[in-house]
Amino acid sequence: MNDFFPGGARIAVLTTQPLPGPLDYLAPEGGLSTGAVVEVPLGPRRVAGVVWGRGEGDFPASKLRPVSRVLEAAPLTEGMRDFLIRSADYTLTPPYQMLRMALRAPGLGDEPAMRRVYRLGHHEPSRMTPPRQQVLAVMEEFAEAAFTLGELSEAAGVSTSVIKGLVKAGALREEEAPRDTPYPALDAARPGLDLTEDQAEAAARLREGVASGTYGTTLLRGVTGSGKTEVYLEAVAECLARGRQALVLLPEIALTGAFLARVEERFGAKAAEWHSGITMTERRRLWKMVGEGGAELVVGARSALFLPFRELGLIVVDEEHDTSYKQEEGVLYNARDMAVLRASLSGGRVILASATPSLESWVNAEQGKYERLDLTSRFGPAVMPKMRAIDMRAEPMSHGTWISPSLAAAVEARMEKGEQSLLFLNRRGYAPVTLCRACGEQVACRNCDARMVEHRFLKRLMCHQCGETIPVPTVCPSCEVEGKLAALGPGVERLAEEVTARFPEARLAVLSSDLFGSARALKAAIEEIAAGAADIVIGTQLVAKGHNFPLLTLVGVIDSDLGLQGSDLRAAEKTFQLIRQVAGRAGRAEAPGEALLQTFQPEHPVIRAILSGEEERFWAAEAAERKAAGAPPFGRMAGLILSSPDLQATFDIGNLLARNTEKLRAIGAEVYGPAPAPIARVRGRHRVRLLVKAAKSAPLQQALAEWVAPVKLPANFRLAIDIDPQSF
Ligand code: ADP
Ligand code: ZN
Repeated sequence: MNDFFPGGARIAVLTTQPLPGPLDYLAPEGGLSTGAVVEVPLGPRRVAGVVWGRGEGDFPASKLRPVSRVLEAAPLTEGMRDFLIRSADYTLTPPYQMLRMALRAPGLGDEPAMRRVYRLGHHEPSRMTPPRQQVLAVMEEFAEAAFTLGELSEAAGVSTSVIKGLVKAGALREEEAPRDTPYPALDAARPGLDLTEDQAEAAARLREGVASGTYGTTLLRGVTGSGKTEVYLEAVAECLARGRQALVLLPEIALTGAFLARVEERFGAKAAEWHSGITMTERRRLWKMVGEGGAELVVGARSALFLPFRELGLIVVDEEHDTSYKQEEGVLYNARDMAVLRASLSGGRVILASATPSLESWVNAEQGKYERLDLTSRFGPAVMPKMRAIDMRAEPMSHGTWISPSLAAAVEARMEKGEQSLLFLNRRGYAPVTLCRACGEQVACRNCDARMVEHRFLKRLMCHQCGETIPVPTVCPSCEVEGKLAALGPGVERLAEEVTARFPEARLAVLSSDLFGSARALKAAIEEIAAGAADIVIGTQLVAKGHNFPLLTLVGVIDSDLGLQGSDLRAAEKTFQLIRQVAGRAGRAEAPGEALLQTFQPEHPVIRAILSGEEERFWAAEAAERKAAGAPPFGRMAGLILSSPDLQATFDIGNLLARNTEKLRAIGAEVYGPAPAPIARVRGRHRVRLLVKAAKSAPLQQALAEWVAPVKLPANFRLAIDIDPQSF
């Protein structure tokens, strides 16, 4: 419950600079509710803030500055306010910055925008014409509806003057209506598909959980195409039927369209969507409606977690293992973990859905912290693809080609049957390396610690770290010799050249994020491929994410060894997930699928686990290794990243921190580094990282805060703390 009180109010103010804490203001005449979004004076400015409670200061009310105005009537709930505080604590983010994430709706406090709409009037027009009849027929069909001028003229197929004429005749009424209208109601009672026995059992368990009205997390594991979506939509139905809101997080905007269509099929109306691709008007509408309960189901990107839901009963994190759930800039948080926190504070459920769960979630399920439900077989006649390695040591390869004769033969066979093949290579651009044959130097980015990657499509070299591009040089930037630069190694564009040369009659599609100007263009391309517009598809990791290509029966992984080099403890997990996901694209409909893995090390334990499909054994072995290393999820890890334009000075501060670790040693934590961060230089800034490892139960955040508190950073230095870093 939100209390309602007059007098002094404690308000968390949205400043750009850190403040010691909430400030006291005088509530307006009618009092204030806790959680209300208000505007208050701060120095000479007016800023937004959230009422945190009753005033507690020593000032009498007469000394307080008054609240300027109430911006949004619907207050943030207690669960939401707790979430902001707890997520700020967890990620060591200043609370004002967290508040900023929650309040970043455009036009907060603006008068509701109005628009003109038309409804059925009370009079018959004295003169009836066919166009007038058409308009009235549309209006009568949707008796309760209000149309804008544009909508009505389109629906009736008449010019706007016909509508204006009907208003004059009294047959239509003109009204002003608020622009921020609720989203169409979803019909939770509509029956879904007939579920298989396995699916029905899982759906029943999920429904029970939602019905309990208490917090709980379920790992819903099932191979691609086993019906996970179908099953978790049942939990959504239960949630809606109970009058609570539901949120479905997707890892990729391009998946939203297909998902919304599915929601419409299931519940008779579209869900609200939230991601970087929606308009400012939509953003504002959704923010308001979520707070007022006028949006029952939201589908969105990770930042949707910070929307002010009034009554959040369920959060689904689809493809929960996906690394895009981790935000790596600004506030560093993992949406999967924050979803669990949010639900635990609002008495809601979480469903983590994946064919290849993160090791964290697998372990949590093993330990009984999460419930686990498994869908073991694909729906209908589709079966999991057959997996086989192509031993590249034994394949005769000609110079500058990457498709082995065995893989080429398999593609050929698919083309003869009119089926699709996918060639997977997780490298954007034409060639990853541009090397000078005269001096041996590689062309590197001048701002970053990264190679420049040739993009022939753009006719430029591009840095994948900072996005800088330069024209393809004809002269080596190092030795200035002309005509000796050579492209080395394959990217998807180069692979496309090879495919075109080898299969000149094939229709080819290349799916790589930088070949599409917009999410919409990408979505259109994906839909065309699904409809059969290509024989061979070349794709980066973009294609691993949940797209459904019914005609696809062959997946060829060009370089299965790509992710296995390097010392990162997560390398095995990531490679396993990626290749299993990509392989899962094959054989979703009647025709059985096959996945061929080109590898130079078929005996590698990760490659063997991918081929054998003995996933439980793979996870158990990985978990044992992490446990022995005291690494997450068995221990806790944090990265501290220092950055500045001056490498030596950055290392100096890192070394200073590494010498003064009493606060960390007091909780038994170990410090490693300073060392160059995984991305060692970005946009001209050098990045140095210290890694801190602690026991699971150690109060890590508090010790980290105390450790860095005495550090005075010179101008142009930055310090960021990354709790649970992606690479370690
Ligand atoms: P996942 O999310 O595990 O990849 P989906 O829920 O997308 O699986 O299901 C894969 C395909 O099978 C979809 O086209 C879906 O409509 C269909 N499907 C799944 N379960 C059923 C069912 N019980 N009846 C009919 N079609 C189903
Ligand atoms: Zn760069």
